[in-house]
Amino acid sequence: STTDELVELDKRHFIHPTSSPKAAAEEGPGIIFSEGNGIYVNNMEGEAYIDGMSMLWNVNVGHGQKELADAASEQMMKMAYSSAFKGFSNEPAIKLAEKLASMAPGDLNSVFFTSGGSESNDTAFKLSRFYWELKGQPNKKKIIGTKAGYHGVTQASQSATGIPATHTFAGSNIKGFFHATPHLTNCELGDTTDPDYEHSIRALIEQEGADTISAVVMEPVQGAGGVNMPPEGYIEAVRKLCDEFNILFIADEVICGFGRTGKMFGVENWNVIPDMMCMAKGITSGYSQLGGVMISDKIREYIIGYENVMSHGFTYSGHPTACAVALKNIEIIERENLVSHVKDMEDELRKGLAYLEEKHDTVRNCRTLGLLAAFELYNPDTGETFDSSLQAAASVVNACFDRKLILRNIGDYKVAIAPPFVITQEEIKKMINIIDESITAFENTL
Ligand code: PLP
Repeated sequence: STTDELVELDKRHFIHPTSSPKAAAEEGPGIIFSEGNGIYVNNMEGEAYIDGMSMLWNVNVGHGQKELADAASEQMMKMAYSSAFKGFSNEPAIKLAEKLASMAPGDLNSVFFTSGGSESNDTAFKLSRFYWELKGQPNKKKIIGTKAGYHGVTQASQSATGIPATHTFAGSNIKGFFHATPHLTNCELGDTTDPDYEHSIRALIEQEGADTISAVVMEPVQGAGGVNMPPEGYIEAVRKLCDEFNILFIADEVICGFGRTGKMFGVENWNVIPDMMCMAKGITSGYSQLGGVMISDKIREYIIGYENVMSHGFTYSGHPTACAVALKNIEIIERENLVSHVKDMEDELRKGLAYLEEKHDTVRNCRTLGLLAAFELYNPDTGETFDSSLQAAASVVNACFDRKLILRNIGDYKVAIAPPFVITQEEIKKMINIIDESITAFENTL
């Protein structure tokens, strides 16, 4: 098919996720991808773009990794799918479960497999409630998330999400989910005199009663909410708080997991061990749809005491092909030392962003952890963000796209950067040059 034919078919038939349906139906897609190689993706005409977001923060080992295609093909030829219900199992799922146990911090030694991040968070919420039921505390049901936290779009994950547009979409949010302001370290440590105290997790726990709360869920670094880095001591403070009130701590590692922050898992930046860890995206680098929830031995101990059928499971829990791809993906990450490469590239990216901040007085608040970064755009005359009618972040992202670099704007003034781990120093420089030119192009429109 030609690009024009595909655009027409797309406009007519494809309801796109997280997009404007009107724009999609009227204008059609801005690009139709056809191929990928390393940090590059091609359009239908064969023009290459730098994928500065690893698509949706997930194609971590880069595009076109033949080994992953081979792993999928080999498993599909043997047995593409088998169930893991009631006594059935398969070798890739068993080996992946064991591998994840060896990689995950602390006593996170068992995994419940899903097909993605939203399912993982839903599963974690249910398993946390199940755990408290098994411990004789069935009233512990409420979940506390954070403002600007993103956990997915199934009804429970959407409800835990603290981004208003997602949280309230179609009025589908459900009861029992609360959102605290993130990163209030002092409040979480118990400083009730802090003016922000009433917005903290600790205040919510006191208000609702610890005996009604099942878990706190958070991303080690908030991704979709704006690449918001936790201040020093915050993640540790939340861990302590959860211990103090007998509440489970769920780390949503869907973006951070598998090396994105320069450690295998985000929580390892702060040496914190959660009770559950949700994974997806980077577990297969997007080559197959897979997610999972790691649970601690403390939780497993109660769950394996349950004799009846645990009525929770997806058709694709433990999908052999997806698990085979994950095993190969993890092998590549380890063999190629990609996590330490991410740490090395972090310096280059941070330097590049510091250069942009120095050069452009519209650029502020650059932050980088591993290959997870963002910058913000401000009106230098007022010191405030630009009027939203200017769509500053979208303008810069569009200017980058015109120059063959894909980035992502978050809200009106934030731009996120998360390139594949295989990026080189030279390629980071190239990316920074394009962003530099794009910011200049935006500034020239002011
Ligand atoms: N959790 C986090 C931190 C995410 O970034 C995402 C997706 O972007 C999800 C959960 C939802 O994952 P999925 O889209 O695979 O359901």
